[in-house]
Amino acid sequence: MFSLNYVRAKSLKHAAELLAQNPEAKLLAGGMTLLPTLKQRLARPSHLVDIAAIGALRAIRPSKGKLSIGAGVRHYEVASSPIVRQAIPALACLAGLIGDPQVRNMGTIGGSLANNDPAADYPAAALALNATIVTDRRRVKAGDYFQGLFATALEEGEIITRVLFPLPKQAAYEKFPHPASGYAMAGVFVAVTARGVRVAVTGAGPGVFRWNAAERALGRSLSPDAVAKLSLPADEMNEDIHASREYRANLVNVMTRRAVAKL
Ligand SMILES: Cc1cc2nc3c(=O)[nH]c(=O)nc-3n(C[C@H](O)[C@H](O)[C@H](O)COP(=O)(O)OP(=O)(O)OC[C@H]3O[C@@H](n4cnc5c(N)ncnc54)[C@H](O)[C@@H]3O)c2cc1C
Repeated sequence: MFSLNYVRAKSLKHAAELLAQNPEAKLLAGGMTLLPTLKQRLARPSHLVDIAAIGALRAIRPSKGKLSIGAGVRHYEVASSPIVRQAIPALACLAGLIGDPQVRNMGTIGGSLANNDPAADYPAAALALNATIVTDRRRVKAGDYFQGLFATALEEGEIITRVLFPLPKQAAYEKFPHPASGYAMAGVFVAVTARGVRVAVTGAGPGVFRWNAAERALGRSLSPDAVAKLSLPADEMNEDIHASREYRANLVNVMTRRAVAKL
């Protein structure tokens, strides 16, 4: 490790001040992405501002007909929370599918959304459920928040404080995990809302996206058969040593049908 300064923020205000005073500082939440990045020398922050001890970021609670999850809530807490399980069972299920027990015990929803890995699970839920990302400065709708590969609407020094999820009528998530990491080779979150069906896909493309053709088809008939003949353009999918574009496009269709069957 190279030398850097570690500071444990006492409050959100303290964390914001530290970021403002140190332009090269980085927030540290669960460290599941940031620490490997530091070890590989892909980032060299001057300070790590640890926000894990800020109680205000750890709440899970109902909020005006929505579900509010603090940015510092860990994946295992989402997976095991009676409040989440009752309000949006598919979200608890998704959190329980992330990585392995070590990752779920440290990783946070805020860290995952800030990082916006193209194969991460939470972005699919946030986009399908039309969530609002609340920061220390403003509120951003998921549709505006995700901006492609590891890119988000977050500005320099902006801190995610919580995520507001509208309650769907029904929802389900299915993913085909990479066998080593658990990251999605393709993951599909289907949400039936008062305004129609929303389908969000992660893992398959350069960033999370909505599959509009599937949403229209499922709006007409909420059955796996409704999407059976639909296909995504393979040239818009990711390709790597694990799967070709065509394979990923097919996986999206299969995961969508499984998610709809699960509904
Ligand atoms: C082996 C392994 C397997 C994994 N498998 C999966 C998987 O199957 N699915 C999946 O979705 N993810 C997976 N992950 C990623 C994991 O879910 C992490 O939780 C996530 O990537 C980062 O969350 P974190 O809390 O650890 O954030 P950190 O690593 O602490 O931070 C990540 C980035 O977010 C920033 N940040 C953190 N919190 C905030 C905040 N509140 N506001 C603004 N910026 C913030 C940090 O500055 C940093 O840039 C895996 C990780 C590992 C190591």
